[in-house]
Amino acid sequence: MEVRDLSESTYVIRLERDGFSFKPGQCVNLGLKGSGINREYSTYSGVDDPYLEFLIKEVKAGTVSPGLRKAEPGSEVELHGPYGSFFIDPEKIKSSQFVFIGTGTGIAPFHSFVLSYPNLDYQIINGIREVSEQHDYQDYDPSRIACCVSRKKWDGFNGRVSDYLKQMEISLDKVYYLCGNQGMIHDTYDILRQAGVSGDKIFTEAFF
Ligand SMILES: Cc1cc2nc3c(=O)[nH]c(=O)nc-3n(C[C@H](O)[C@H](O)[C@H](O)COP(=O)(O)OP(=O)(O)OC[C@H]3O[C@@H](n4cnc5c(N)ncnc54)[C@H](O)[C@@H]3O)c2cc1C
Repeated sequence: MEVRDLSESTYVIRLERDGFSFKPGQCVNLGLKGSGINREYSTYSGVDDPYLEFLIKEVKAGTVSPGLRKAEPGSEVELHGPYGSFFIDPEKIKSSQFVFIGTGTGIAPFHSFVLSYPNLDYQIINGIREVSEQHDYQDYDPSRIACCVSRKKWDGFNGRVSDYLKQMEISLDKVYYLCGNQGMIHDTYDILRQAGVSGDKIFTEAFF
């Protein structure tokens, strides 16, 4: 494995693909080999990339995420999966418009979607604490990503993704994917439902 630091809080690990097959957005169970402790991580790389990547926040005093960041290049990991149903039905790609709402490393599965499906009609609303957490934004069409910064003032939108949603026009026809912490998912789900979005157009993945 190799580690790529993106910011003080966040890094990417890259693993050999080794024939591993997954649907973009699914997660795996991953940890350092021999440690006996694994955690779930969502796929970050594209389905056709020759490697596997994961976007990971280093949780200070966390059990797994600090150790993965410190691992020597070439260290081995234990990986199980893929798991979960947070993916897009490929049949729906041509006929649907997607809104991806993610906080922090909750943008990971959307990165995998965007790299995997070149014709995807998407809009991302990404909630981060500060601008230094705009990770790998070069991989998204700038006209399709809105960034909400909650802790430090900047010249874009200041506030949470829920504040952003409250001031935008919510389409009832689009399909919504929410990923991140449970509080955000809960608030965002309520806003979408109150605006009239039907429950079968909302998909969620809670990280913690
Ligand atoms: C389906 C699924 C997919 C996930 N995908 C990702 C992913 O792609 N990238 C990623 O960084 N994490 C992801 N997570 C979270 C990840 O599994 C771990 O919980 C996280 O890395 C912390 O593990 P730890 O052992 O370092 O900390 P622990 O010792 O397990 O926990 C320490 C504390 O950190 C909190 N915590 C967990 N994640 C975060 C976070 N991101 N920000 C702030 N606090 C947190 C927990 O609530 C806990 O209280 C995912 C979780 C699930 C359930």
